[in-house]
Formats: sequence, structure tokens, C-alpha cells
Amino acid sequence: MKCPKCGGAKTKVVNSRARGDARARRRQCAECSFSFATAECAELPPLPLLPAQVEKKRGGLQPFDAKKLRESIYAALCKPLRRAEFADSLVAELEKEAARASPIPSRVLGEMVMERLQKADKGAYFRYASARGLPPAEWKTLAKEIADA
Ligand SMILES: [Zn+2]
Repeated sequence: MKCPKCGGAKTKVVNSRARGDARARRRQCAECSFSFATAECAELPPLPLLPAQVEKKRGGLQPFDAKKLRESIYAALCKPLRRAEFADSLVAELEKEAARASPIPSRVLGEMVMERLQKADKGAYFRYASARGLPPAEWKTLAKEIADA
């Protein structure tokens, strides 16, 4: 460490103590005797998110199954263009959100999928919902929404 006053290359540590998570040092220049403080702290990479866990309806956890989710979304999509791309990006997005909210109930995960599909592709929303056995009362609303879209 160079002396901030004279630029001299030789400084020595005259005092060192812990300050919170950092270490504070007092250094002194060998040439001009100027003394100054430095602080050292660890540079840590951001903590990686742990893999998402999904809470099953009847209790118990299972790992987020990106492949299975992708298949169910892909099967629901009808627009041939960008179908795979859409399913991939949606699953990647959901996996990240699930990891942040982990453990996430499977019902909530399902709702997240439905919400995204509803905005992006009404037909896919309809198919995804029917594959999951949506109650008949909701069918009429869905059919109407599709007719209106
Ligand atoms: Zn100096």
C-alpha cells in the first residue's frame, strides 16, 4: 500500500484490530512517517439460491421439477411459433421465483403458471386449466373470456 501523502511505497502496519466484519489497520509511512487507516473486508460472491422445493398438497416437499412443468406448459401452448422458447423462459422464471419463495406450495406454483398463461396465451390457459381439472363453474367464465378475446 502506497502512502497517500508522499506516495512512498514502504508503509508498515502499526496497529490492527477487528471492526465488525472488517479489519482496521493503522499504517505508517517509512519515508514521511504519515500514518493512516485502512480497512479490509472479505469480498464474498452473492449467495447462490438453493434449489426450489415444492410443497405437495398432502404435505411433504419435492424438488422443483422444471422438466415436468415445462412439459405441461408446452403441451398447453397452441401457437407453434416460439412455443418452446416461451415454455423455456417461463419455466426458468418460475424456477427462480420458486427458489426465492421456497418451499412453495404446489397450488401457488400452479396459480403462478395460470397467471402467466392467462396474460400470454388464452388458449393455453384454457388447456392448462382443463388438464388440471378446473371446476366446471370456471369453465363458462373461461369460455366467455376466450370468446371475448
Ligand atoms: Zn509518506
